[in-house]
Amino acid sequence: MRWSQALIPTHKEDPADAETVSHRLMLRAGLIRKLTSGVYNYLPLGWRAIRKVEQIVREEMDRAGCQEILMPIASPAELWMETGRWDVYGKELWRVQDRNGRQFVLGPTHEEVVTDIVRNEVRSYRELPFTLYQIQTKFRDEVRPRFGVVRAREFIMKDAYSFHRDEASLDETYRALCDAYTRIFDRLDLNFRAVEAATGAIGGSASHEFMVLSDTGESEVIVCECGYAATSERAEGKIAPPPTGEEERPLERVDTPGMKTIEEVSAFLGVEPWRLVKTIIYEADGRPVATLIRGDREVNEAKLGLALAADIVQPATSETIEKVTGAPVGFAGPVGLEGIEIIADHTVEPLTSVVVGGNENDVHLTNVRPGRDFRVTAFHDIALIAKGDSCAKCGKELDSFRGIEVSQAFKLGTKYSTSMKATFLDEDGEAKPFIMGCYGLGVSRTVAAIIEQHNDKDGIAWPLAAAPLAVEVLAVNVKSDETRRVAEEIYESLRAAGVEVLYDDRDDRPGAKFKDADLVGLPLRVTVGDRGLERGVVEVRVRRTGEQTDVPTDGAAGEIQRILGTLT
Ligand code: ATP
Ligand code: MG
Repeated sequence: MRWSQALIPTHKEDPADAETVSHRLMLRAGLIRKLTSGVYNYLPLGWRAIRKVEQIVREEMDRAGCQEILMPIASPAELWMETGRWDVYGKELWRVQDRNGRQFVLGPTHEEVVTDIVRNEVRSYRELPFTLYQIQTKFRDEVRPRFGVVRAREFIMKDAYSFHRDEASLDETYRALCDAYTRIFDRLDLNFRAVEAATGAIGGSASHEFMVLSDTGESEVIVCECGYAATSERAEGKIAPPPTGEEERPLERVDTPGMKTIEEVSAFLGVEPWRLVKTIIYEADGRPVATLIRGDREVNEAKLGLALAADIVQPATSETIEKVTGAPVGFAGPVGLEGIEIIADHTVEPLTSVVVGGNENDVHLTNVRPGRDFRVTAFHDIALIAKGDSCAKCGKELDSFRGIEVSQAFKLGTKYSTSMKATFLDEDGEAKPFIMGCYGLGVSRTVAAIIEQHNDKDGIAWPLAAAPLAVEVLAVNVKSDETRRVAEEIYESLRAAGVEVLYDDRDDRPGAKFKDADLVGLPLRVTVGDRGLERGVVEVRVRRTGEQTDVPTDGAAGEIQRILGTLT
């Protein structure tokens, strides 16, 4: 690839609206360009990186015995109605109509479509187990697209689905595919960890997420020395109780003008945050529910969903909150709250004197005694576990790290096969629903995660396995005949040997070309300049270590290939 003819639009300056390193570098190095919110073009270098990752994913999926297929992006709404996800998926589901007004879905994932294939084509237990996968563009109308391709509305995913006769067979494939994921992320030189995960809207009995360690990650992982690791959504733990048993006092009404946050109210009243019990109104499958949680804790919506047996749990709109509490947002409280379920976290149970919102603008209530002053419909474990709590397994103090979720595996069981009546005939002649697993890996997000872990102040520093090309040959001054002759010769010999080379043949300032080389970050840079040529050498530099070697121009291509062979 000759840079003078390639579309590699690099930028010196950081783009204004990019918050993470990978987003900034993908824009600056000319890998991607935004078309509209959450929708990106992949330019030549970005697309090459995507294809590298896809290839590794493909090799490891094939090695694990999976079969590649390609399903349509658009699928008819009726399929999604069969499983109920037409409603459950909510606004994230991207819906379109054809010319006859028939509704379609742009696939966010393909359980419905793949189950439809299998229910039509597979009859007998003899045909099981098997796993189908595809690498394809997915659509999710995310509420908050951000961080470039990390959370996009259109993105590339590898999604796999396995079909089984029994749980034992599912367990075996699940393990094999988790092993395949481990090989994929190892090959991509990522620092990652597989952790237990909640199952969410996709459903099922067990799930793991593969997390790439990164401070910019949107996921929090709770870990313990004993080996326990789970997403904060999923994590179990013990929360230390605060001191209780204080003297009983009459409830008091206090004016708290304009104070809506825990910090404001606790500072104003001079009480610790845990004593301020928050009342948060949720909508669980559409019905309003009040939750009570200590002021120093957060509600775990996944646990709340389980407690309420609800598919979708989301914070209520301000309209609903005002209707339920009769007060503006920020002053909800349980005292006198009627006609609504009140679900309290277990940590609220031992408290004897708390502060709550007064269901009135600018009013809080103090000396509130649970039981005496308000009722609770039920106590559940609905708190997010955090660093500092103790491990449910061994009791030691839990720690946490942030990560980017690059893939997730689920044991789905018969959730989809039952609702879609997808059955096979078992050995005993009985029709049984397929037992299923599903395994998604975000290809485009993985490319961003690689950059998040492989960069320095000058730009990207690609691991060889994911690099758009392996080598950049940089001709310092293309006006020099000798430089051009040697650079062209190395470029052509490397290409003839099957090495992917970017040849910077642009007539530009050397300083700008070196900066671009570091920014784009190909694993090896070969600098061809008059100064070296006078000594009969070109300079080979490893991007990730900065290590430099002078290589004689005679036979340079062979030596460059040897050095490439030592890289990861
Ligand atoms: P998240 O919690 O980040 O929204 P998810 O649990 O919805 O992810 P899955 O349904 O398991 O994701 O999808 C499989 C993989 O697809 C994820 O592990 C991730 O790598 C990728 N992915 C999901 N949503 C997006 C998105 N909006 N943009 C880019 N990649 C995504
Ligand atoms: Mg999601």
